[in-house]
Amino acid sequence: MQERLVDRFGRVHDYLRISVTDRCNLRCLYCMPEEGMEFADADTLLSYDHIVSVVEAAAEMGVTKLRITGGEPLVRPGLDGFIRRLKAIPGIKDIALTTNGILLAKQAEALKAAGLDRVNVSLDTLDPARFHLIARRGELKRVMEGIEAAARCGLSPIKLNCVLLKGINEDEIAKFLKLAYEQPLHVRFIEYMPIGHADDNWRNHYLPLSRVLEEAEREGYRLTKKADVRGNGPSDDWQMDGGTGSFGLIHPVSDHFCKSCNRLRLTADGSVKPCLYWVDELNVKDALEDRRALKHLLLRAMDVKLENHEMAEKLANEALSHVPTDRRMSQIGG
Ligand code: SAM
Ligand code: SF4
Repeated sequence: MQERLVDRFGRVHDYLRISVTDRCNLRCLYCMPEEGMEFADADTLLSYDHIVSVVEAAAEMGVTKLRITGGEPLVRPGLDGFIRRLKAIPGIKDIALTTNGILLAKQAEALKAAGLDRVNVSLDTLDPARFHLIARRGELKRVMEGIEAAARCGLSPIKLNCVLLKGINEDEIAKFLKLAYEQPLHVRFIEYMPIGHADDNWRNHYLPLSRVLEEAEREGYRLTKKADVRGNGPSDDWQMDGGTGSFGLIHPVSDHFCKSCNRLRLTADGSVKPCLYWVDELNVKDALEDRRALKHLLLRAMDVKLENHEMAEKLANEALSHVPTDRRMSQIGG
């Protein structure tokens, strides 16, 4: 059996994003409805033992980088012990976490001690009242405390994920740029994606990221294109001359980066998704006890992975060549 995770287009996959839960303590308006979100029953989720088996198989096939996500990963108990086990798997070199930050202050130290390398914290606004509008629950203050705790214990480089929303937080681009100039943080502006609910909300609030570069120019920053931030993936990164931090643009809709896609996703309920956007997924549950079967399934994911997604076509209201997923971001693992 061919053992490396190479798809039909020659893309080598060395990065697995693992969702440990679809539950969350926030209800961000671009990710979940305010009320009535249905969550998977606890007994349908993969156990940590199961996920470790999948990662062992994937690591033998060349996966070296992991990201733990959700839902909100920090609501699942025992995450530090789980990360310790992942870190001990031969071949795994880098483990990152994406979190909304609400529970991070309490857990940062234990996570670092367990072997977590770094965190991405989602932060769409620097205004407490607006935080309620976007996240609908929780408090901005808790997120800021989480970021400070992560910095104190060396979970760095810390990246902030900011989804830009037309008419909601676009007037904060300059504030985020200032933050990136003054603090040792990497601010990643992200385009709003039509995942699982390509409805009016997305169409009305989608904003192309060219706005960020215009704003940086207006604010008088001198920019240099950055070659590398550790683990930068699809981000188009910029250094602000004289600044402490930096910023990046992740523009899956206006300029997709599928050509260099190196990632697979594992959902909390056990599906391998070769692409965030399309409906295709392969459930690992029947293969969990058999390493060969698991590897075979990962190779099948390579076979069904399409060349690119069609979010730009979706925005232009053009016909799509395949079927988009109906799962939300929190149910896949963003
Ligand atoms: N709960 C954690 C958090 O918010 O960081 C991890 C899971 S969340 C689904 C992962 C990332 O996906 C977050 O940075 C979030 O802002 C982003 N996200 C969710 N829905 C999105 C959408 N429709 N378009 C773009 N980004 C989205
Ligand atoms: Fe929760 Fe993250 Fe989705 Fe916000 S983006 S609702 S924090 S899973």
